[in-house]
Amino acid sequence: MCGIIGYIGEENSRDYLISGLEKLEYRGYDSAGILVFDGNRMKYEKAKGRLDCLKEKIKGKELDGAMGIGHTRWATHGAVTDENAHPHLSEKGMFAVVHNGIIENCEELKQQLLSEGVGFKSETDTEVIAQLLEKYYSGSLINAVSRTCEQLEGSFALGIVCKECPDKLICVRRASPLIIGKGEGCHFISSDVNAVSRYTDKIYKPGENVISLVKKDSVSFYDRDLKPVEYEAVTVFADSLSAEKGGFEHFMLKEIYEQPEAVEKTISAFDFETVKKKINLQKVKNIFITACGSAYHAGVLGKYVIEPLAEIPVQTDIASEFRYRRPVIGEDTLVIIISQSGETADSLAALRLAKEKGCQVLSVVNVRESSVSDESDCVILTQAGTEIAVATTKAYSAQLAVMYLLAVHLAFERGRIEEKSKEVFLSQIEQIPESIREILRRESELRRIAREIKDSGHLYFIGRNTDYAIALEASLKMKEISYIHCEAYGAGELKHGTLSLIEEGTPVFALACNDTVFRKTASNIKEVRARGGRVYCFTAERYADEIEGCESVTAIPEFNPFFIGSLEIVPLQLLSYYTAREKGCDIDKPRNLAKSVTVE
Ligand code: GLU
Repeated sequence: MCGIIGYIGEENSRDYLISGLEKLEYRGYDSAGILVFDGNRMKYEKAKGRLDCLKEKIKGKELDGAMGIGHTRWATHGAVTDENAHPHLSEKGMFAVVHNGIIENCEELKQQLLSEGVGFKSETDTEVIAQLLEKYYSGSLINAVSRTCEQLEGSFALGIVCKECPDKLICVRRASPLIIGKGEGCHFISSDVNAVSRYTDKIYKPGENVISLVKKDSVSFYDRDLKPVEYEAVTVFADSLSAEKGGFEHFMLKEIYEQPEAVEKTISAFDFETVKKKINLQKVKNIFITACGSAYHAGVLGKYVIEPLAEIPVQTDIASEFRYRRPVIGEDTLVIIISQSGETADSLAALRLAKEKGCQVLSVVNVRESSVSDESDCVILTQAGTEIAVATTKAYSAQLAVMYLLAVHLAFERGRIEEKSKEVFLSQIEQIPESIREILRRESELRRIAREIKDSGHLYFIGRNTDYAIALEASLKMKEISYIHCEAYGAGELKHGTLSLIEEGTPVFALACNDTVFRKTASNIKEVRARGGRVYCFTAERYADEIEGCESVTAIPEFNPFFIGSLEIVPLQLLSYYTAREKGCDIDKPRNLAKSVTVE
């Protein structure tokens, strides 16, 4: 995670660094720091807390220099303190480093350096890098960087400043993202295109282990063996408007309201012909969907739709589990990776494992310029636009739409449905955006529920089949932003243990929108009520009158049960939003989290 920014040019770097960090803060926000270099002195400031704390700290301070680096941190090694915030300097002050990632062998390296008499100031793994650079530096910058990288295990994107080289900024990456932006008489380094899109749409994307020497008017690249390599700058599209709140109190609320458009655009951009060209579907005998967090929940729903419609075995795995459990996969396996950012470290590792085993890889990502899309056989781009709130909404909804479209097209391709049914399914999918709009018009009931549950210690979400997949996501949404402990269960699973937790007044959200299992879930609701549970039910309109004795019944418009999850999740997102708001939580930047999870 974390955001790295760097500038080298003719102007003062300070404002560029701060404006870049503003765009990167979603990646990590427990502390921030900047360092500027005027050719003589490196001056830096670091502050624990949000970027605003750093801005406050540097007010009126002299921080001038035409080169600089900045960082917004998501701590992995060492507490959240000023000292542990980046940049980190080497002991004698020759090098300053900002780092995104984890150095897995940092303890070993640190012990070695300590035994050589090097003194450390922080508890971070990053400081080891600065010290190694100083140790190996004897006049040649790229040699020092290369020797240092050889020692490092784990993942890193580094922005480096060397006191003896006032005309160069150095960067290098391994399994963490970093791009170089080509400006007018200046260059930027950044974790994300959006942080520099205000200044340029031309970027270089150096590969792993490539050392980039960035000067104000040129960039040179060196591979692992220090041989020069060439990269062309590519023109990218960056979505700068998404970074404004547009009148909404929070990005999350804005993004919830942007869902109809996100789904609409994703549906119209979906192109199954390209999938057929890039993936040999004849070979595919089974599918593994692999992802993390909400994207994993989109994958769970994908399984409930793709398997029955296309009649093909589908498994859904959490990427961090998939990669270490030695899955039986091979040439006849299609691995679908779902990742909003396309940089999720665990998903990327799962992708690489799948490729290694000879699988075909189809990815569903929201960011075209990303590692996951670069390494996949075929990419389906969700069209959610930039998502700023850490808790995903519109990107998740766009992922669901892709799952449905894949299910229907695969079903037709495999001869499991006729052309006519395919058309019916597709037109139903096309109606999703309008139905979401309709739901967004009736949100007042949800505010009332939010007030009722805001002080609860625990909440349960139950459902079967597609309702279960939605329960997983609803529960995650609620816990990540409202900090209330939530659990999601298959409604039929409750009696196998969890029912013991239900007592007088325990709030339970029962999701019963899927027609095919409605009666079964209705019985489970009765079981909960019989134990004193307070049930808030979400069900399809036609069943709303049948449900009795619940605290509330939220009716979801009639829809095909395969796709109704896309409508059902919307009030549940709003519910978590309003609950977090009632509690005064920091909705867009929940504690301990970050948007793009680029560490394992
Ligand atoms: N591992 C480093 C730290 O804990 C970098 C974390 C990050 O990527 O923000 O400071």
